[in-house]
Amino acid sequence: MPGKTKFIFVTGGVLSSLGKGLASASIGALLECRGLKVTLLKLDPYINVDPGTMNPFQHGEVFVTDDGTETDLDLGHYERFVNVRLNANNNFTTGKIYHSVISKERRGDYLGGTVQVIPHITDEIKNSIIQTSENVDIVIVEIGGTIGDIESLPFLEAIRQIRFDVGKENVLYIHLTFVPYISTAGELKTKPTQHSVKELRSIGIQPDILLCRTDRFLSKEIKAKIALFCNVSQDAVITAKDVECIYEVPLVFNKEGLDNKILELLNVWTGSPRLDAWNKLVEKYKHPAHSVRIAIVGKYTDLTESYKSLNEALSHGGIDNDAKVDLLYVDAGALDKKNYEDILSEADGILVPGGFGSRGIEGKILSIQYAREKKVPFFGICLGMQLAVVEFARNVAKIKDAHSSEFNAESQSPVIHLMREWFDEKTQSIQRRDDSTEKGATMRLGAYPCRLLKKDSFAYGAYKSEKISERHRHRYEFNNDFRKPLDDKGLVFTGTSPKGDLVEIIEIKDHPWFLGCQFHPEFKSRPMAPHPLFRDFIKASLEHHQKMRIP
Ligand code: GLN
Repeated sequence: MPGKTKFIFVTGGVLSSLGKGLASASIGALLECRGLKVTLLKLDPYINVDPGTMNPFQHGEVFVTDDGTETDLDLGHYERFVNVRLNANNNFTTGKIYHSVISKERRGDYLGGTVQVIPHITDEIKNSIIQTSENVDIVIVEIGGTIGDIESLPFLEAIRQIRFDVGKENVLYIHLTFVPYISTAGELKTKPTQHSVKELRSIGIQPDILLCRTDRFLSKEIKAKIALFCNVSQDAVITAKDVECIYEVPLVFNKEGLDNKILELLNVWTGSPRLDAWNKLVEKYKHPAHSVRIAIVGKYTDLTESYKSLNEALSHGGIDNDAKVDLLYVDAGALDKKNYEDILSEADGILVPGGFGSRGIEGKILSIQYAREKKVPFFGICLGMQLAVVEFARNVAKIKDAHSSEFNAESQSPVIHLMREWFDEKTQSIQRRDDSTEKGATMRLGAYPCRLLKKDSFAYGAYKSEKISERHRHRYEFNNDFRKPLDDKGLVFTGTSPKGDLVEIIEIKDHPWFLGCQFHPEFKSRPMAPHPLFRDFIKASLEHHQKMRIP
């Protein structure tokens, strides 16, 4: 597309959880299907500098990018829907913006001036938006929170100003709102939408397009009413209907004419969108031939948001195997020696995901023992891999007090520990840690290379490549003092860092599929390119299902 980069700002109204992240990602997908180069940016109004320190119960999963930034989970949607690799520049919070302005103030950059929200904070926000626009046709910027929140005001002021800075024809405001069906009245109600748009207009932003989240298609009359009261054209009122499968959202938007309208308003010419791959994907998702049940033994069993990428990666693995994946959330804290067999016998595959904190550790270890002994396919991710090592050390190698020093600092057999010295591939230098740094020890974050050591392994069977790269987010590592004793007992080390000092993948033999990895493969799985480990784990679980449950 010749000419300037265009900006689409996505705001949300009425209430949270309407799916602004998915809507933004879907817009990105549609524009990409028209051959445009797109990037996405999330602006979060909270004051944490990044979500790394936030409780997943409250805020959902922390998504990690290749460069090791801990970001909002919406960046996960962006990477899954659009062919982009995001980094630190694709997620800004109020905290990060203020941090930068205050550092500049301390450095003396504003000498003589009074530092204020307008223009200093708003300029910083605008710069964060503009810097993403290099080499792309369209930048989609999602503003977190809901219109009316105090925190989001500086962001809204900044995006209001951008239309003046870069020109009216280069900016589009899309507002996601809610149109509830009230069963007692038997009608769809437009008032919340009217109020939300009124609020937005009172701060100087007139939305160009409204995405109306609802459980049914909006009639012409309802659209006309919303258009009139909200001052948008009728064909810019788009039904954002609930869908069975999130990957259907781009298709529903397309049918409603959203991408056409966006391009018309931004005055961009493209060919028609190539949606075949999306259509095929949704078709496959909706009509699976098989089904498989995976137990996720974790801490956050109530909130699917806490394991967003994991759930998606499992569903991608399912799509590839023509299977529907049913998730059975097992609260590790409630598993004990009396009930674990009953609960886990329901599962065709067992997965222990990443995690922090000691709650439920012994329950997770029990479930790993069950998977190993009963030969149920097992996938351990990060903490799940570390606990698989602990389980093996205790029950196979008979190192009774084996533990991770994260949970028992006194253990004489810390099979998982904080490393004193290792070679860091990112900085290409030796890293050291002593007692004084232990507590505040930083995490291994982001993409690290890994070498697969054995062709005859589940890992190599999946990746079919000796060199891989995966994303990490953890402090503790496998303790090399135990490499020989555990190897002697049959734990197989199938992936390590290129220099060999960091264990990245462990497996056991004589098992249909048992693999633990120190990294988080779920962050790189895509619906169109399911992650090979998830694909193979689901395949093995499906085989287990067929063997055990089909007479
Ligand atoms: N708590 C473990 C560590 O810090 C595992 C972290 C994780 O699973 N992401 O090493």
